[in-house]
Amino acid sequence: MVVSHLHPDGDAIGSTLAVKWILEKLGKSAVLVNESPVPHKFQFLPGAGEIRSPEEWRGDAPFRQVIAVDVADAERMGKASRLVADDAQILNIDHHPTNDRFGTVNWVEPKAAATAEILCHWAAHLGVKGDRALATCLYTGLLTDTGGFRYSNTTPEVMELASGLLRHGVEPAEVADRVMETMTREQLALLQRALDTLSFSRDGQVSWMWLSREAFRETGARQEDLDGIVNYARNVVGVDVGILFRETEEGAVKASFRSREIVDVGALAQALGGGGHARAAGCTLKGPRERVEALVLERVGEALQQGGA
Ligand code: 5GP
Ligand code: MN
Ligand code: MN
Repeated sequence: MVVSHLHPDGDAIGSTLAVKWILEKLGKSAVLVNESPVPHKFQFLPGAGEIRSPEEWRGDAPFRQVIAVDVADAERMGKASRLVADDAQILNIDHHPTNDRFGTVNWVEPKAAATAEILCHWAAHLGVKGDRALATCLYTGLLTDTGGFRYSNTTPEVMELASGLLRHGVEPAEVADRVMETMTREQLALLQRALDTLSFSRDGQVSWMWLSREAFRETGARQEDLDGIVNYARNVVGVDVGILFRETEEGAVKASFRSREIVDVGALAQALGGGGHARAAGCTLKGPRERVEALVLERVGEALQQGGA
């Protein structure tokens, strides 16, 4: 079984599919599982139709050989973890600094820009011959986790790997159009609702937005439509930390963090029970809204004071 994190991003889907293509070239078959459906924008990726929900799997579970990609801790697999046998051998391939080494074998490279970067090296090491399908999946992981080759994790190595993937037939304009330049109407409507709530701290270094359950209901938006909204808060001049708070189905609050350069939001989110990277992270907290907002803003304020000192 190949599995990634729930509410998958481009690296999660791209890496899941890349492992499938790599295994196939080695004459091995795999079952691909994700708790969440494949977001619309990634459905064009070769093999995406094979990713199924844990409920859909009717075969012999549980699995005793598992490869987890882009999964920082076992909980991030969500319901897919039910398909993992107690005595399973788990290969944990990831790049989150907060990875808790839940695997039997842990290949964690916090310096890698994306899990897809690690998989590029794996494929090369295994002598797997690249083709357009594999290359497109890997490229999508690199592209999305670097924010379109814009974030500070855009290293010379990333550009070299991306260059090699283009030589294998990746169509960069098509991939970028599908995954970065196309928005659903629901996504825009959700953004509109979020922007209506945009607030700033007194010093202007923190900006936050809220999305209620009504906002989702009334716009018809889904989880995947959240993608990119938090950036609008972080992108404002003078802001270091942008936050998107949203009410989950279960009545908890999910906070997404993005930072420019001062606050390590990965450490901040981890201290609140979540995790992530220095510039992008998240956590889930029990309500009520006012208390969660006050707690988070207090922690961010402290981190800004320490980091800015
Ligand atoms: P997002 O804000 O887009 O949901 O997540 C941003 C980053 O933080 C991603 O790299 C994701 O893996 C990580 N992240 C978000 N929420 C959580 C969480 O609840 N736990 C952990 N460990 N990581 C999270
Ligand atoms: Mn991810
Ligand atoms: Mn990733």
